[in-house]
Amino acid sequence: MSAKSLVCGVYILPMVAILGCNTTAVHRWAVHDMSRPQPKVIAPGQEPTDPPSDAVVLFNGADLSQWQSTNGSAAGWKVQNGYMEVAKGTGCIQTKRGFGSCRLHIEWAAPEVVKDEGQGRGNSGAYLMGKYEVQILDSYQNTTYPDGQAAAIYGQSPPMVNVCRPPGQWQSFDIIFHRPVFKDQKMAKPATMTVLHNGVLVQDNWVLEGTTVHEARAEYKAHKDKLPLMLQNHGNPVRYRNIWIRELPDWD
Ligand code: MG
Repeated sequence: MSAKSLVCGVYILPMVAILGCNTTAVHRWAVHDMSRPQPKVIAPGQEPTDPPSDAVVLFNGADLSQWQSTNGSAAGWKVQNGYMEVAKGTGCIQTKRGFGSCRLHIEWAAPEVVKDEGQGRGNSGAYLMGKYEVQILDSYQNTTYPDGQAAAIYGQSPPMVNVCRPPGQWQSFDIIFHRPVFKDQKMAKPATMTVLHNGVLVQDNWVLEGTTVHEARAEYKAHKDKLPLMLQNHGNPVRYRNIWIRELPDWD
């Protein structure tokens, strides 16, 4: 036996044993284990943009019953023709319920009449847990700082592409969000976000650096496991329709 194969015999065998042990240890179920719980049966929506049967419908075009102003008063945004519209001077709105990790579908339209430019054009935002903003902005032929354009994780991550539709047209965000985990008031696991804008992947499991802030580096500050979804009132009459959310289990 050569010196080389002796080394292999000595070192590889224990490594295989260790790896084998680990692999067995991390699996709670055997392969094709029929005693493994079956996934819950739910009904899909008619279209992929429609809420499946286990979704919480946050806005179906009729009323703001799931929403309130961030100061606790009644939500003051306009509801008409199947959409809600940001009303100047009425503040931001948030869901009455709190959510943690989730999958959110939301449709929005920037004002058809173009006024202003950059951050002043069709600005709003979807704030997961009221703290982590996916920017809503009319980014159709409207240049601004990349980490603040439509579908950016504001101040952190520009979208991979700009797939914005012209102002006045309906657009969609599909967002998969995993909340941050805090232990002893310190961040133990950061939040992550995946975003599809008009069906196109623009944020691929981005690891968030902290709470959305303006002109500063984000940092985490410990908060509850569930908090309301907030929509930003930036003074521009942005419209929303078809908003639904599915709560997701937290990763181990
Ligand atoms: Mg905004």
